[in-house]
Amino acid sequence: MVKKVRSHISQNEQLLFEMSSPGKKGYQLPDLDVPAIDPAAALGGSAVRSEIAGFPEVSEVEVIRHFTRLSTWNYAIDLGMYPLGSCTMKYNPRVNEQVARTEGLAWAHPYQPESLAQGMMEVIAALECALAEITGMDAVTLQPAAGAHGEMTGILLIRAALEKQGNPRKKVLCPDSAHGTNPATAQMVGYDVVNIKSNDLGMVDVAELVKAVDGDTAALMVTNPNTVGVFEEHIVQVAEVLHSKGGMVYMDGANMNALVGVARPGDFGVDVMHLNLHKTFSTPHGGGGPGAGAVAMKAHLEPFAPTPRLKFDNGVYSWDYNRPDTIGRVRAFYGNFGVLVRALAYIMAHGGPGLRNATMDAILNANYIRKGLEAFFDLPYQSPCMHEVVFSDDRQTNKGVKTGDIAKRLIDYGFHPYTVSFPLIVHGALMIEPTETESKAEIDLFIDAMQSIAREIDEDPQMVLKAPYTTRTSRVDETTAARKPIVRWKPAS
Ligand SMILES: *Cc1c(COP(=O)(O)O)cnc(C)c1O
Repeated sequence: MVKKVRSHISQNEQLLFEMSSPGKKGYQLPDLDVPAIDPAAALGGSAVRSEIAGFPEVSEVEVIRHFTRLSTWNYAIDLGMYPLGSCTMKYNPRVNEQVARTEGLAWAHPYQPESLAQGMMEVIAALECALAEITGMDAVTLQPAAGAHGEMTGILLIRAALEKQGNPRKKVLCPDSAHGTNPATAQMVGYDVVNIKSNDLGMVDVAELVKAVDGDTAALMVTNPNTVGVFEEHIVQVAEVLHSKGGMVYMDGANMNALVGVARPGDFGVDVMHLNLHKTFSTPHGGGGPGAGAVAMKAHLEPFAPTPRLKFDNGVYSWDYNRPDTIGRVRAFYGNFGVLVRALAYIMAHGGPGLRNATMDAILNANYIRKGLEAFFDLPYQSPCMHEVVFSDDRQTNKGVKTGDIAKRLIDYGFHPYTVSFPLIVHGALMIEPTETESKAEIDLFIDAMQSIAREIDEDPQMVLKAPYTTRTSRVDETTAARKPIVRWKPAS
């Protein structure tokens, strides 16, 4: 039986180019009441095209319906729960969008003189201040455009500070539970990456760490809570181990949705960290951006922060470019300003107690799922989880069904898949992050769906292996799809 709980509209759709017919347009202008000019004569022949090859000619209603129909092919956070672990796919309150569209903010120009940009600069100052408070750090830069970009900025700060002391050192340590961007960042900034084993609770093994840290160690890059959803309980001791040898602690703060208002990395020994504003602080993401990877740092790293830095003297904001130790710019202008506005709106709309509640609800929701599914799926780490829970497909593989197959079947139940096969430290991982914005009713539906799939696997694994049944296409060759995509929809013959 092909069980189907919810489905979304799905129609056939031609390419816009195939709908084209010569002379169709989306507008109609009145006849000229002034003399026509020849564009080639006015602009110079080389600036004027005679035609745009293959440009589709379609009516307004065709364009609107085309893109609206295409939008129904996608899953979205505004359709239902999106439990993609590590990505913090929370519902984005509309008030953030409203604020980001405020005329003076939305139409601000980066070349606007400082005297006409005081309001924008105040937004930046207020957000820097709020994030410093939330993280327990001394200074914040909002320039980096995403999480990985923030990591690079942070490790560049560490490198610059160590260089100033006379030796940039050679190694950066990454636990085996690290997000792939961590070792990639260390490598890009010129460090050798050393892998640190986790213990059987899924935490950094302090004994292993002590063995690895020496005078060549620049930093440890640690995600906390880490990618198995577990809080690094020994983080204070971990930081002491690094500091005692002159190294630093970089925290990947992509999982701050589990800490905001509850614990501050600055209080547990972190020197520098990034925040994914598009995750924790609620900007629609997943479609490739834009994002913002704010970097929060302790005072000893601030002299190296990207320029320009915001200054406030005699009631006036200005940009300070005169900073001899800076690593320089990491992005044009001042970062992805629209994302910064959304983050500040989100923080102010919640207030301190509201942010703390959101964190507690995110943790509660993940633990509710952990309890609801632990009788059905293997749970490699037993400790209570933070904002996300990681199962493995251990019990299902003896029927030939893997995490990717379960995820495909979940699509038939009306949910976006969880994160498949990450973190690598858990073989066949199912990484589930509900976030605080899901109601108990929605989470119960999800738990029902997962339990039902587990039963289907016991009864008829072959059926599950052919899922999904309710989508426009079912199983594709994922490598070929990524390398040689065929974007035209072909009706099944
Ligand atoms: C999302 C994520 C990143 C990378 O952030 P981007 O904004 O995608 O560059 C890094 N680390 C962890 C743990 C993440 O979840």
